[in-house]
Formats: sequence, C-alpha cells, structure tokens
Amino acid sequence: MIIQLEKGIEKNKVDSIQTTLSKLKFSVNPVTTQFEDYLVCIGKTEFDIREIGHLQGVKDVHRVSDNYKLVSNKWKTKNTIIDLGDDVVIGNGSTSIMAGPCSVESEEQMESITKHLIKNNIRIMRGGVYKPRSSPYAFRGLGIDGLKMMHALCKPRGIKIITEVMQVSQIEEMYPYVDVFQVGARNSQNFNLLDALGGLDKPVLIKRGVSGTIEELLYSAEYVFSKGNERLMLCERGIRTFETIYRNTFDINAIQVLKDKTHLPVIADPSHGVGIRDYVSKLALASVIAGADGVIYEVHEKPEEALSDGQQTLNFMESDLLVQKLNKLLSFT
Ligand code: PEP
Ligand code: MN
Repeated sequence: MIIQLEKGIEKNKVDSIQTTLSKLKFSVNPVTTQFEDYLVCIGKTEFDIREIGHLQGVKDVHRVSDNYKLVSNKWKTKNTIIDLGDDVVIGNGSTSIMAGPCSVESEEQMESITKHLIKNNIRIMRGGVYKPRSSPYAFRGLGIDGLKMMHALCKPRGIKIITEVMQVSQIEEMYPYVDVFQVGARNSQNFNLLDALGGLDKPVLIKRGVSGTIEELLYSAEYVFSKGNERLMLCERGIRTFETIYRNTFDINAIQVLKDKTHLPVIADPSHGVGIRDYVSKLALASVIAGADGVIYEVHEKPEEALSDGQQTLNFMESDLLVQKLNKLLSFT
C-alpha cells in the first residue's frame, strides 16, 4: 500500500498515522522525494482502505499488490515525464533520441560528434568517461577531464549529457556536468550507488543488468525512488543468453512489459542490445514500434577507430539515415 501525504503535513499527524498503521500490523517506510511525501506500507492485503483514507493528513491511499511499489503504475496512472530543461523532455509522448560515442576520447572526436548531433537535432549526447570494461587492459575512459570537455561543448549548444557513474565517490565531482546519470548494466544492482543517486535531484537512467530480470530492474528503480528521487527512467540493453552469435540478446518483449508495469519512461539501447552495427538501426526502429519512449545509440565519425565498442557503433551516414527513418516512422505513429 502507498499512502500519499498532504503537502507540508505536520510531524504529529505523520506520527499519528504511523501509530494507526502499526496497530493494523503494517510495517511502514516513510519516503520523501523532491515532489511528495509517502508512506510505503507492507502488510496484509485484506483491509478496509477507509480506515486509513479518513486519517488527517492523508491525501490518497493506493493498494499496490506488486512487490515493487513506488515505480508500479498500479498507483500512478500518469506516466512520469522528465524535463531536462531547454525544451528537452523525456516521456511526454515524443520519442527521445540520445546518441554519442561509447567513450569520450578526444576533443577532435567530440567536436565532430557535437556537429553531427546538431545537424540531426539530437538534443541528448551520450558518452562514457568512466568505462566498465571486461578487461582491465582496455581503454577505461578519460575520467572527469573528459566529462568537462564534453560539457564545454554541449552546454552552450543546449545539448544535454547522459553519462555513466560507476561508484558513489564519483557523484559529487561529476554532478555539475551531468544532466542524466546512467547506471550501467554491471552496476544495476549496486545498491549503495542506487541509494546515493536516490538522494540527488538529477535524473537517473538505470540499465537492465547483464543477466537481470525485468523485476530486478524494477527493484533497482525502487531503490532510487524510495531514497527520494522520482526522476528515473529504465533502459533495456540486452541480456546474456545461451546465444553466442551476437553480443547480447535484445529483449524487445521487455519494452512493452515494462510499459505495462511502470509509469517510468523506457529507453531502448540497441547498440549494446545486439552489439553488431548492421542490426542497430533496425532494432532502434523496432523499439519505437514496441513502445519505447526513446532510443540511445552509439555513433562515431570513424567507428573502426573507436577506443571502445566500435563494432556496434554507427558512422555518421548510418546515424543520419536512422534519424531520418525514425522521424518518418514517428510521423506515422
Ligand atoms: C555504455 O553505455 O557504454 C555501457 C557500458 O553500457 P552497458 O552498461 O549497457 O554495458
Ligand atoms: Mn558502449
């Protein structure tokens, strides 16, 4: 059960509601986000909702039978919309495009990608500066200097930045330069990181774990929400299966399933989802048909020279074509 409390409710009223809930044998978890105060209650499912609904200070009561609560659309029927400012909005019915290199590599590389994004009216740039790599000898990113360089190019042009944060200690330094914090697949269940991002007022995109279930992804989102941050989105990026022909199995089913279960925006990452350049554009288009609120993909002027994930990165011509096709598709849907 989720109880929404009235804005500015006095502490003695909250205490009194909590006493009643304890008597009814509910365990109560108070949650304060940037928007609302809630009591998330775990306990019996059979009860007269009016016993709680009439209490002073209660704005609304919702039964939520799912194991995750705050991210469930059983109580919040309006989809979450994330406004990044400068008319960049995610989840409002439009399809957001986020594109950029797997890794920020150099000023020259970033300048050419910035121009490519501007040409295609892409308002959100992706680009990793802290890279989770399977091998410790692979390129692991330029760190905070790379992020500052990305910011210096994007900020004056109204381009928003999404980039991966790998650990709690990086958050503070990254904060001024980031518009959306990405939690990578390998950190999808790093609960300390999720808790810490829950304390921020900046949006968070959580990727599905390499072998993560849909429900585990929803639980990860519940961590962030229950620590106070409602500005959240989810990302399907493929999972590990017995198939070895491609890098990951892009679970297109998950897009609609997530849309059915949560009010959060769902973003598709076909680049990591399949790991092979030739299929990325087709899967991006398929994701939009499947109901994704946006796509995030990797692009580079010379993918064959990219320091990471070149094999799944579109070149500028392929990316131009994808944007044209996405726009055409969106004009029909
Ligand atoms: C990335 O976005 O570059 C990345 C490493 O993604 P994932 O966590 O999905 O592997
Ligand atoms: Mn990558």
